[in-house]
Amino acid sequence: MDKKEKLLPQLLAYAGKRKVLTYLSMVIVGISQLLALAPFLYIWAILRDVIAGDNSRIAHYGWMAVAFAVASIVVYFGGLMCSHLAAFRIAANMRKTLMRHIMSLPIGFLDTLGSGKVRKWVQESTQSTETYLAHQLPDKAGMYATMLGLAVLMFLFDWRMGLLCLGTVALALIVMVSLMTGPTLKRKMGEYNKALDAMSNEAVEYVRGIPVVKTFGQSVFSFKRFKASIDQYQKWVIAYTLDLRMPMTLYTTLVNASFAVLIGLTLFVAKGGGVDGHFLLNLLYYIIITPAIAVTLNRLMFASENEMIVAEALDKTGRILAIDPLSDPSEEKLPDDNELALQDVRFCYPEASRFAVDGVSLSVKPGQKIALVGPSGGGKTTTASLMARFFDVTEGAITLGGVDIRHIRKQELMNRISFVFQDSRLLKATILENVRLGWPEATREEVLDALHRAQCNDILAKLPQGIDTVIGTKGTYLSGGEQQRVAIARVMLKNTPIVILDEATAFADPDNETRVQQAFSEMAAAGKTLIMIAHRLSSVTGADCIYVIENGRISENGTHKALLEKGGKYAAMWQQYVESVKWNIK
Ligand code: ADP
Ligand code: MG
Repeated sequence: MDKKEKLLPQLLAYAGKRKVLTYLSMVIVGISQLLALAPFLYIWAILRDVIAGDNSRIAHYGWMAVAFAVASIVVYFGGLMCSHLAAFRIAANMRKTLMRHIMSLPIGFLDTLGSGKVRKWVQESTQSTETYLAHQLPDKAGMYATMLGLAVLMFLFDWRMGLLCLGTVALALIVMVSLMTGPTLKRKMGEYNKALDAMSNEAVEYVRGIPVVKTFGQSVFSFKRFKASIDQYQKWVIAYTLDLRMPMTLYTTLVNASFAVLIGLTLFVAKGGGVDGHFLLNLLYYIIITPAIAVTLNRLMFASENEMIVAEALDKTGRILAIDPLSDPSEEKLPDDNELALQDVRFCYPEASRFAVDGVSLSVKPGQKIALVGPSGGGKTTTASLMARFFDVTEGAITLGGVDIRHIRKQELMNRISFVFQDSRLLKATILENVRLGWPEATREEVLDALHRAQCNDILAKLPQGIDTVIGTKGTYLSGGEQQRVAIARVMLKNTPIVILDEATAFADPDNETRVQQAFSEMAAAGKTLIMIAHRLSSVTGADCIYVIENGRISENGTHKALLEKGGKYAAMWQQYVESVKWNIK
């Protein structure tokens, strides 16, 4: 209950100056709903005249009823205008706050939570908030006004009938409040929403995984998780529905019971001979207006269900806002040189049970080229992400030129380190714009030069508008390897002293591989520090040091030659690689 009370202030915190509009809309809609009750008074007057056989003023009453109904609608629209103005502003501010916060989070965060999920959260929470504030909240104020007005109308003509009608309604209300909006249901609703969330996430993952599933025939595994989430959802929906069955029946019966009670009263009064024209008039009248109570109550009930959805949305928003942004140091320290060193670094992903990086120490001197190799899931990408501070280390430290990277300003760090991702996805923009992201002031010639050095000439040649082709539109899709080469061009343009490269695993054909190799040699020749994560060992033979990473630890390291002589894990991997190449040639 107390969550609900806090709902409105929480939302209005985003409203700025338009806060007053929300309150105004509630008042105006309340007034419109009171106006809407006036026709009931005229109906009573019409009934009275009909029973008395006086037809002279019926038409007048009828028109008055219409006039009030129209006035109520006009006022209602005025109220909605206010509520919309406020709702749009609040939703927009909420979205801005969220996006700004997300921008300040560790870059790795989006990966961990799933960027699709975050987008869905932002979109859905702001959307439900918008609907709630624009329609549901003022309507709720209107419903309370209606209830109040109806209560007055009930006692206006015959207090006994009024009391009976209100009594059954009050019983229905008690049932509704105690059984249907209690804390148990709220918890269930939360679990239900979680199941719904899980299901849509799995659906996205499932669709995204179809290429992999098709290539590797992993259908059973991937389908299992999707199916499990659907089963889970189904379980909750059924449990939720079954739980509501009894209270809903009781409530519906009670809310519609006033007819039965009124008839009972009539029979009772009739026994005493007290049924006259006036009594009949009131009876008819009460039979006409009581359904209005049931309708209003029903709407009120669904309003509180919507509130739960908004509370859930606010809860998610709060969870995103609660994630700490990467701190920017208060006093700036400039590293002396670009020697990168990891000291006993450990890192555990949020909510993961074990360390993805479990005590890694290494150092790279300026201009050196090192390679990280090892089995998939060993922790290579994570180690590299930590170097660029996509996450902060859990334990240990990473230093650049002797300064802990947590004490270097983000911008300064980004000026020194750039990263080519394993799956570098390009933006839906021209190649020129995509590469220019590395250095927005670059001229067209500089961009072309970078593309040339990154061995992208063949890509430009095959695209209809060359460098001005928009990627991702019909007929202009690039392969994973090609996209990565464009990403390398971007990094070349950015021209940072340290470059981290996570080699693309899939889709890289031998031709592409050779070109990527050439692009690397270019960078190495330019004196860059290169840290590369290699999946094809041919890329690493020339490295100053090769680190084999398994289970988050360095299991061995040395030059290609030294490691081969040692005859350990690397030698075995190399043997395997050589075999596979031979096999390919056959
Ligand atoms: P590699 O690049 O060597 O294949 P990763 O660094 O990607 O390995 O992964 C190391 C470990 O961390 C794996 O067990 C993987 O499941 C886990 N992991 C990777 N990314 C995430 C993430 N975003 N959230 C949770 N665990 C992750
Ligand atoms: Mg990886």
